Amino acid sequence: MTRGYPLTEATRAFLAAPRPYLIGAAWLEGKGAPLVGIDPVTGEPFGEAHAADAADVEKAVAQASAAFDDKRWRGKTPAERQRILLRVADLIERDRELLAELETLNGGKLFGAALHGEVAAAAETFRYYAGWVTKIDGGTFDPSVPGQSFLGYGRREPAGVAALIAPWNGPLVMAAWKLAPALAAGCSAIIKPSELTPFTTLHLAALALEAGVPEGVVAVLPGDGRELGQALVRHPAVAKISFTGSTAVGRQLMTQAGGSLKRLSLELGGKSPVLLFADADLPGAIAGAADAIFGNAGQVCVAGSRLYVERAAYGDVVAGLAGHARALKLGSGFAPETQMGPLISAAHRRNVDGFVERAVTAGAKAVTGGAMRDGPGFFYEPTILVDADQGSEIVQSEVFGPVVTVIPFDGEAEALHLANGSDYGLAASVWTRDVGRAHKMAAELRAGIVWVNSHGIPELAMPIGGMKQSGQGREHGFAGLEAFTEFKSVMVRTG
Ligand code: NAD
Repeated sequence: MTRGYPLTEATRAFLAAPRPYLIGAAWLEGKGAPLVGIDPVTGEPFGEAHAADAADVEKAVAQASAAFDDKRWRGKTPAERQRILLRVADLIERDRELLAELETLNGGKLFGAALHGEVAAAAETFRYYAGWVTKIDGGTFDPSVPGQSFLGYGRREPAGVAALIAPWNGPLVMAAWKLAPALAAGCSAIIKPSELTPFTTLHLAALALEAGVPEGVVAVLPGDGRELGQALVRHPAVAKISFTGSTAVGRQLMTQAGGSLKRLSLELGGKSPVLLFADADLPGAIAGAADAIFGNAGQVCVAGSRLYVERAAYGDVVAGLAGHARALKLGSGFAPETQMGPLISAAHRRNVDGFVERAVTAGAKAVTGGAMRDGPGFFYEPTILVDADQGSEIVQSEVFGPVVTVIPFDGEAEALHLANGSDYGLAASVWTRDVGRAHKMAAELRAGIVWVNSHGIPELAMPIGGMKQSGQGREHGFAGLEAFTEFKSVMVRTG
């Protein structure tokens, strides 16, 4: 039972003993202290996972390299690999309740959103990239060599052993966003889940094996980020790093990977602006702005944490947003009435509260929230701040919690100036009924994705990633697959 909500037998069995980790065909128990999963609703432990160490990185890389070299995965026909990836998707769906319960228990997510959103999306990700496996091509060329004829063609080859480093805020779906394209490209993959949320990634690896991904092609190493992350990044046999996490760690990885010229994709932090014009459908836009920041308690990389409102609508929008915030029901994600869960940890909640405290000291006013919720767990009140300066910490730093600043603007030019006045460039949204304005804003905003009259809608076929300090490279779409390949040109003299 978790706070009055029964877990399925499968979840209870899964959590009955510390979960081992996977290297090659072996499920292993670490030598050090296991990682303890904490239910952020209660602050109580619910399960454990064995922690890997740097020596395990050596073993996993050796096995992943051997699997790459003997072609046990990349040597299969594309049709065979496609079938296996489709089977992974089916198995995720078979175990969707287990996966959604673990995600809810571990991350404080809403069960319905975990089941129908993230777990379903993880399965769809494998289907999407399964579709690509038989369609990877490099094109042909007609080289212009004087006096000689050549046939030129391109080959897209798997990059090699890929290290996939994932954060805690969408453990399963983000592991899927990396593992599915890595496998589709023919890579071997070593996944390093967040130490806070290892459980669903461990099960995903088990499903990959069950589906027929050969032993050694996928490893999962839960454990300390710095120790394992560094060992992976420094390892000469790791060809590619795909990292999703904070900008601070992303920067370190870039410096460390620079020496070896490893291929590096970075999906980093954000401080995404929501531009709300007075001509928008205001009730819809206000509800959209509330979802953009309070969904998953603001622990979303594309959270709409900077709301800029055209002055004529400012008062109505602040009042409307405050109404949404006050009405939100906080609680366990297993309770059907819950609309917002807790933050991931006590430490993270202290960080969020620190940002808000400093903002208020600097002159911002809390229209709603601004405090931790009393009682068990790591709940934080949905918080709306007004009167914050554009240049202040609260407007410029990623808080990663249910905290939004609302600032008025006059006209399109000022809206763009404010929205683009950030070191981050991950996402943005524009709310207006004026089609011309919408396209103009979409073109001028410095963000990897712009939504018009919506925010945060994921689409697997469309590449997503960051400009500026929000990262480099793109996930999803063909770009997400390409990131795990190397392009080779072949020139064949034909006469
Ligand atoms: P984090 O950077 O602390 O950790 C991310 C991963 O890196 C974890 O697995 C962690 O163990 C590992 N890690 C930590 N230190 C490391 C090091 N020195 N070397 C190598 N690996 C290391 O981030 P987090 O707190 O887990 O996640 C929240 C952050 O992730 C936020 O900044 C959020 O915006 C970002 N994020 C970005 C996207 C995106 O698509 N752009 C998506 C989700 C989350």
